[in-house]
Amino acid sequence: MSDFIKLLPDNVANQIAAGEVVQRPASVVKELLENSVDAGASKITLVIKDAGRLLIQVVDDGCGMSDTDARMSFERHATSKITSADDLFNLHTMGFRGEALASIAAVSQVELKTRRQEDELGTQLIIEGSKVVSQESCRCDVGTSISVKNIFFNIPVRRNFLKSNTQELKHIFEEFTKVALINHDINFVVFNNDAIAFNLQSENYKQRIVNLINKSYKDKIIPIEAETEAIKISGYICKPEFAKKTKGADQYFFVNNRYIRHQYLKHAIESSYQELIPADMYPMYFIKMDIDPRTIDVNIHPTKTEINFQDAHTLYAIMKSAVRKSFGSFSLKVPSIDFDVDPVFSFPVFDETKPIIQPKVNIDPNYDPFAGMSRMRQNPTDDSWRNLYSDVNDRFNNELGAKVEKNKVVLGNTFLQSKDKYIVGTTDKGLIIIDQEKAHERIMYESILEKLDLEQPAPQIDMFPETLTFSVDEAIILDECKDVFSNLGFVFQKLGQTSFVINAHPSDISTDEIKSYFETVLSNIKQEYDRLKGNRNKLIAKATARKTCIKAGQMLHNEEMSIIANNLFKCSITDNDLSGNPIYAIIDMDAISNIF
Ligand code: ADP
Ligand code: MG
Repeated sequence: MSDFIKLLPDNVANQIAAGEVVQRPASVVKELLENSVDAGASKITLVIKDAGRLLIQVVDDGCGMSDTDARMSFERHATSKITSADDLFNLHTMGFRGEALASIAAVSQVELKTRRQEDELGTQLIIEGSKVVSQESCRCDVGTSISVKNIFFNIPVRRNFLKSNTQELKHIFEEFTKVALINHDINFVVFNNDAIAFNLQSENYKQRIVNLINKSYKDKIIPIEAETEAIKISGYICKPEFAKKTKGADQYFFVNNRYIRHQYLKHAIESSYQELIPADMYPMYFIKMDIDPRTIDVNIHPTKTEINFQDAHTLYAIMKSAVRKSFGSFSLKVPSIDFDVDPVFSFPVFDETKPIIQPKVNIDPNYDPFAGMSRMRQNPTDDSWRNLYSDVNDRFNNELGAKVEKNKVVLGNTFLQSKDKYIVGTTDKGLIIIDQEKAHERIMYESILEKLDLEQPAPQIDMFPETLTFSVDEAIILDECKDVFSNLGFVFQKLGQTSFVINAHPSDISTDEIKSYFETVLSNIKQEYDRLKGNRNKLIAKATARKTCIKAGQMLHNEEMSIIANNLFKCSITDNDLSGNPIYAIIDMDAISNIF
């Protein structure tokens, strides 16, 4: 028998790895900006063309690179920031994996120009799809300029799956905001299609929040501060009366100058507002934490924005106390707290009588982002609903086609979208106005329910295992519904009482949506679980459809509107959404001719 195992060529391996790091133009923006910050830049310019499809350029006045380093920087695992796992303990810079540039160069056309202060000439390097096209000396300013052109030019599938410009730009600005907020002493200039979108001078943190996020916040935020041996908390939180209706809006945590997400600390803050604001309002916050890196578990997953604190419980208490203290200093009415005697601040953060625990770093020694075909993403993750469309299409075209007759609405071929919310079209009876969100929710519900009723496991995508922790009642539900979620395409194991390790997920939910998927879906199911336990499929299909359907506010292309409209009328129930509200209205010809 002949051997048939072959090593992947480098460029293929890089492309696979790039799937992890480069999910969309915004990922490139994040990596390049972080590199410029790490390079000690005092001015960073970001240039975006065509929502990053055509060009993403970052120019900095940082330390620059030698010609050898310039070439090396595109090699896998090339980094000047870490030489051994031990260094991770002391990591203060943003990047440390040395895979961003290699990944970016694998899926785009990159032009780098860089020069160090001490060199007379700089280096110009052109790389296309991991292949070095040219490297030569050039005249250029001190610092680095990287242009990333035609992202995914060599992976048309991924290029096609990018969302609308509005959506992609939104992601780009989100990433920019995270970096620009915390690096307020850096001067940032952003051009979007040749127009200046931002011009932020070096300024203090409050000025940066106001100038970058919202001018009106000037009078809406108050400082928060706390300092113990182990941690320094600073930044701003909003006065309770300015809490927002939108979940998660303008909520930022930074640890050692790096944006992170942290559900537990978020809870510490939100619960401190509990008695002061209605239950459906959420505070904004911009909190910085400076903490000894040795007390943090660093997880080196490529796109991780989550970290574990060694002593999260104490931190939780300190955070809560700091919020209340901040209210107190600004004489907001908080029931029954005496700050001078608030016991939280007298907690010893490190108990000297206890043995010192070695800091833990979660490094999987076998984890190589460039290996592992199993992590290869065959589906672009962010436009997942398109997969659902194709599923839905198949289903309808095969067996349910007959239902079209029944509902007897004959749709025309052209559709318009109004206010990014309604699909407007013609029918044999008159004009039709369809609520896109309600319609897609109904379509998704019926399609998911059918999949679940078939009890055939759905396709899965393996992922870097992620551990999620739930409340006790949610964990019970998840455990009891394990089979239903596995028919949807999830693979997970219970870990202790309330934690689960997620190993795989359905192809139509992206990796970074998993956490919020479970949070929303479980909290939804919880409310009706006891009553509807007998029909778990319906319950989960409903919550999943609700969470994953296209929402109002999403711009749709013609073909997408046509798919939604047509598939709606192939559903078994077309008139009402899952709460019984109408999904569409028809203005009939009589009504129209009466107008005239
Ligand atoms: P990482 O940031 O994880 O080290 P990257 O692939 O992002 O990996 O970058 C590789 C290396 O290239 C960095 O460690 C750094 O030495 C160099 N580099 C990247 N961008 C810049 C820049 N803007 N200025 C100076 N050096 C840079
Ligand atoms: Mg980097």
